[in-house]
Amino acid sequence: MSINVAIVGAGASGLFAAAQLLRRGVRVDIYERNDRVGKKLSITGKGRCNLTNKCTPAQVMENVVTNPKFLYSAINSFTPDDVIEYFESIGVPVKVERGRRVFPVSDRANDVVSALQRDVTAHGGNIRLNTRVSSITPVDGGIELAFEGGKAVYDRVIVATGGTSYKGTGSTGDGYAFAQALGNKIITPRAALVPIYLKEDISELAGLSLKNVSVTISSPDKQDISLFGEMLFMHRGISGPIVLSLSSLCAGRVNGHGEFSGSSVFIDLKPALDVEKLDKRVLRDLQEGHTKAVKNVLPALMPKSLIPFVLSQARIAQDKRACDITSEERQRLVCTVKGLKFTPSHLGGIDEGIITSGGVDVKQIDPRDCSDKLSRGIYFIGEVLDVDALTGGYNLQIAFSTAYICAKSIAENHNFA
Ligand SMILES: Cc1cc2nc3c(=O)[nH]c(=O)nc-3n(C[C@H](O)[C@H](O)[C@H](O)COP(=O)(O)OP(=O)(O)OC[C@H]3O[C@@H](n4cnc5c(N)ncnc54)[C@H](O)[C@@H]3O)c2cc1C
Repeated sequence: MSINVAIVGAGASGLFAAAQLLRRGVRVDIYERNDRVGKKLSITGKGRCNLTNKCTPAQVMENVVTNPKFLYSAINSFTPDDVIEYFESIGVPVKVERGRRVFPVSDRANDVVSALQRDVTAHGGNIRLNTRVSSITPVDGGIELAFEGGKAVYDRVIVATGGTSYKGTGSTGDGYAFAQALGNKIITPRAALVPIYLKEDISELAGLSLKNVSVTISSPDKQDISLFGEMLFMHRGISGPIVLSLSSLCAGRVNGHGEFSGSSVFIDLKPALDVEKLDKRVLRDLQEGHTKAVKNVLPALMPKSLIPFVLSQARIAQDKRACDITSEERQRLVCTVKGLKFTPSHLGGIDEGIITSGGVDVKQIDPRDCSDKLSRGIYFIGEVLDVDALTGGYNLQIAFSTAYICAKSIAENHNFA
């Protein structure tokens, strides 16, 4: 028996589910509200698309913040190695960068989108652009989709509408309304992987990117959380991979509005050197440049634009000569380099979230195939679900893995009782 499947949303998970179904001989219509597919996918990884992370399924799970257990079956069924193999097979060779992040060799997210689209259309997938689905209703003999300009009945429907951040890409939370209408619970969506805004005026640092630093959030009565890697200063806050990931680990440190109270952010500019080694290094630099102003000695140690901040926190006059720096001042300087201190004010809002935390409650979703336990024949995959992970390619991995188990199950179980 041949079945027909509708997929709502031609983003990462929807396109991939379509490709997997079509390769297994299932007929698929894909509904996409935008005038092109993969609008969000095309801006991922700053336009380079961090496809996945070259690691084991267990390591993926360690980087999932919300509901890792739910994803166990999906990630083990379609692993990071499987993602790599699939994309290479459709003409997207990949490379592995720092932190095991996997990117297309071309550094172009658009190549990922085009290859997926080609795979879908080459196997006979019917993509209906500019078609926003407005409701999904179980009816006698199937599931009815209502969309601009008509209605159609399908044997199975996959909801792949994404979260509710970066709304301009098409993900405005329609999937939550579909799920709610079917009786599913929605865990209140909130932004995840957001910038952290600071109380200090850091506008002079805007655009400065720091590599190989360690950022720590320290809060009263809580264990410090630290991550090592790359970060970026914005006009009023900090962002970049490790800051975005830290923002997802801030539960319990912010109130319901995402505001911090009593916490501090410390940036260790030289995490590879302990205090003793750094002190020796600073002493040597000061001795070598003994006639210079201290601000002119420090560029060997840090970017120029940071020097006024570091010296001000260490309470050292910028023009003080290196040879006049006391050992107490040098100690303060070393401590500041190991922990440049800022005061976090609040987390970025929903539209700044790289992903949405919250969404369709996974308690009502079967982890083996992402089917809705409440409505036979309806499936929820990707970011619409209440799952989210840190930066590093893990969120796209979730989109592909959930799409895979769903498509495989639909193709293999045409006749459920
Ligand atoms: C700036 C940015 C950078 C990112 N970089 C990375 C990265 O490098 N690596 C990584 O792993 N993750 C990254 N992410 C996260 C990643 O993009 C998402 O996790 C992923 O796209 C989720 O896929 P999805 O298919 O669930 O949803 P989406 O990709 O958002 O796709 C949902 C689709 O459904 C369509 N749609 C919605 N409602 C309807 C409707 N009613 N009818 C028809 N169509 C509808 C939308 O138009 C959209 O095309 C990034 C996110 C952002 C915002």
